[in-house]
Amino acid sequence: QDQAELILEGPHTSASQSEERKKTTKEREEGEEEGDVFQDSEPELDEEKGEDVSAESAGKVEDDGKKRHKGEAGESTKSENPPPLAPFDHRIVTPKPHQIATYYTINRDEVLGGGRFGQVHKCMENSSGLTLAAKIIKARSQKEKEVVRNEIQVMNQLNHANLIQLYAAFESRHDIILVMEYVEGGELFDRIIDENYNLTELDTVLFIRQICEGLQYMHKMYILHLDLKPENILCVSRATNKIKIIDFGLARRYKPREKLRVNFGTPEFLAPEVINYEFVSFPTDMWSLGVITYMLLSGLSPFLGDDDNETLNNILACQWNFEEEEFTDISDEAKDFITRLLVKSKSWRMSAAESLRHPWLSDRSLHYRLNQKVILTGQHI
Ligand code: ADP
Repeated sequence: QDQAELILEGPHTSASQSEERKKTTKEREEGEEEGDVFQDSEPELDEEKGEDVSAESAGKVEDDGKKRHKGEAGESTKSENPPPLAPFDHRIVTPKPHQIATYYTINRDEVLGGGRFGQVHKCMENSSGLTLAAKIIKARSQKEKEVVRNEIQVMNQLNHANLIQLYAAFESRHDIILVMEYVEGGELFDRIIDENYNLTELDTVLFIRQICEGLQYMHKMYILHLDLKPENILCVSRATNKIKIIDFGLARRYKPREKLRVNFGTPEFLAPEVINYEFVSFPTDMWSLGVITYMLLSGLSPFLGDDDNETLNNILACQWNFEEEEFTDISDEAKDFITRLLVKSKSWRMSAAESLRHPWLSDRSLHYRLNQKVILTGQHI
């Protein structure tokens, strides 16, 4: 089968023509901006952990970003520091039976995204003026409501800078609304397909490291995400490489021997054990991380076939490779990283902790070399 056909064709893209696949179906005003690309990266790493970051160190991000190589114009806001924390302390949320409109102003015109079960809008808490995101989930039956209550329960347990934080929840007859920390940088998905956005390998290192930090924390808390894909990774802003993981709609506490039934919306990211309806576990998320890494580095979807059936078969056969020209300049360490995640047998995949220790994410001299490569080839210009 012709691998060149395996182009990115997620739920936001319509056809396989290259023009089409660069567009998302929603309006992306910011995508029209010119020259809004990363300036550089710092080779030096900082070992801070997301959950420990203080407001001070979050502020430091901006300062650090001012150090840059070769005096390029514009300010670099890339650094190794974790993303800013939510603008509120972690809280345990129980859904309230009140009218949300009493406390919040939902901007019905500003749709941040459409999900499986409803829409996400920008909103403001009236008493504080805080900007937040309201995810309105249609849930009429008790069964549907239980699913959303599970999402709330999961978010209640997760306090980490790389995981979107829950602020409040409101339950009514027809829906449950989750009010969350708002981030404005858009989906990581959009950066993959944005031709103005030249992602370098070092950018990918920074993104993947943060996803790994968030995953390591989740897994330590015994929680599986089970729906990791580029649409569920949000950028904190357009100018930085900071990300937060969203959508805990399928997330759950790990139960040994639990199987997962999924609606095959887009099968590209499904792990073989999910397709086979076998037990899901921590490595199930690690498979998805492998797919995301592959996509960020190449813009290609490793298993995507001409139709869903072919995609599923490619996944089950674990049929993927680095043959595309997009991988020509990619480091051996990156390829090794992916190779240790896209492994059919769950037990042989790297864990989040192992991934963080893998040279691709941890070797400073490699990052220095990747940074030098950016300078020499002027990848950002
Ligand atoms: P679903 O579970 O229905 O798929 P998501 O939680 O994935 O819904 O949200 C759908 C989309 O809404 C996301 O892909 C994203 O573009 C946007 N979105 C979700 N949460 C936020 C947020 N906290 N801040 C900004 N945009 C968000």
